[in-house]
Amino acid sequence: MQNKLLEKVYSPEDFKKNGHELIDLLSNHINQVFDKNLGKVIDWKEPDESLSYWKDFLENGKSETLFEEVLKRSTHLHHPKYIAHQVGPAAPITVLTSMISAILNNGTAVYEMGMVTNPMERIITELLCEKIGYGSKSSGFLTSGGTLANLTAMLSARKAKVSKDVWKDGHTKPLGIMVSEEAHYCIERAAKIMGLGEQGLIKIPVKSNFSMDVSLLESYYQEATQNGIEVFAIVGSAPSTATGVLDDLDTIGTFAQKHKLWYHVDAAHGGAALFSTKYKGTLKGIAKSDSVVIDGHKMMMMPGITTALVYSDSRTSDVTFSQKADYLLEDSIDSDWYNSGKRTFECTKNMMALHWFVLLKTYGESIFDEYVTQLYDLGNQFGKMINDEPNFELAVSPVTNIVCFRYIDDNLELAQLNKINADIRQELLEDGEFYIVQTKLRGKHYMRVTIMNPFTSEKHLVQLLDKIKIVIKTI
Ligand SMILES: *Cc1c(COP(=O)(O)O)cnc(C)c1O
Repeated sequence: MQNKLLEKVYSPEDFKKNGHELIDLLSNHINQVFDKNLGKVIDWKEPDESLSYWKDFLENGKSETLFEEVLKRSTHLHHPKYIAHQVGPAAPITVLTSMISAILNNGTAVYEMGMVTNPMERIITELLCEKIGYGSKSSGFLTSGGTLANLTAMLSARKAKVSKDVWKDGHTKPLGIMVSEEAHYCIERAAKIMGLGEQGLIKIPVKSNFSMDVSLLESYYQEATQNGIEVFAIVGSAPSTATGVLDDLDTIGTFAQKHKLWYHVDAAHGGAALFSTKYKGTLKGIAKSDSVVIDGHKMMMMPGITTALVYSDSRTSDVTFSQKADYLLEDSIDSDWYNSGKRTFECTKNMMALHWFVLLKTYGESIFDEYVTQLYDLGNQFGKMINDEPNFELAVSPVTNIVCFRYIDDNLELAQLNKINADIRQELLEDGEFYIVQTKLRGKHYMRVTIMNPFTSEKHLVQLLDKIKIVIKTI
């Protein structure tokens, strides 16, 4: 090769040397899970400070320290005091599959660029379909994130249910989907992208426990229909993001069947409970759905982003992006399942099936049971701990590993309490020993934890509450 720089870029020796060093660095990093050499979970910096650091690094930084600095300046999900967002600590073996995916770069959209991953996707999604309780016509694929998967499901729903072919002819009539007011914002985004407008997103209020008030479904449906909206889908959350509370999937399923609506379950977070002997009951009724979304990077120990979207009738997914709804005419078509790009929104995607496959092959599916069960158990446990504290209260009794709680004091007004709870959370962020998040529910400011790390224990949660009590005294 004439170009020395390009030769260096692809040097196997450099790769080997850098790779060995990086694996050493990452092994030390992962060692955090065992509560060893615990530094901060998050070394908080203001955005502008981070920006100037990296600008300067590009000019003057030492390349040998790049990976180290990235580790130091990122949020540490393997740290047992990371109890914040719904993205979990990746199982180390999936770091290796990420590496294979990166080097092979087989984009998977067509069979020739996915001879390994297209069959793996089929095997994985068939397992998920079986767990859900779908029949033999079911199938699915993997795609880049819950947000995109939910949009894709809504597009399939529109193709299958709406009387006119919007894909071909554009909008000729107002359309609507029904969803809980507590659903993840990406459902609203999907509706807006699809041109449904404000009126097309029919938000069903929640009950006091933050699950969709299913007693209102009929009246909201009738009202929308009378206003000339063709309602074609209803979405159940399993669970909704803020509170971790699941909708009544069974009752929503019955309602959807009655009105011939597409029933989609957004189980991005809680779908993994299908594997939990103890908690699969939280998903009762999910088999009545037409489609389900499950994130691998949330409750299944995989690196971001990889999401399964499965359908009870695979023909509906074959035609989401095609001009003709052929499946309506034919009983069976030879769907070329091995060209997954026909059914996914994206064209190129990474070889995400490797993460699912390697976990199943190496540890067996019981690993998902152990993970989900342990984290949901600890969520419940933390709920009990909060109940035992006179100066704290829960937003709702936790049913998953998401817990919202706040500091209370009878002598203080709501506005003061909101400020204190927001201040506590800000102090914790800037301190960095723990990382938790926050949310607002019915005007009240809550601290919010998602217990994602299987090495987080009751001990760490006790330490969190102790820390908060100390912080309260300083604000
Ligand atoms: C996290 C989440 C999403 C979004 O998924 P991404 O993979 O982050 O795009 C959608 N719905 C629910 C219920 C979620 O918890």
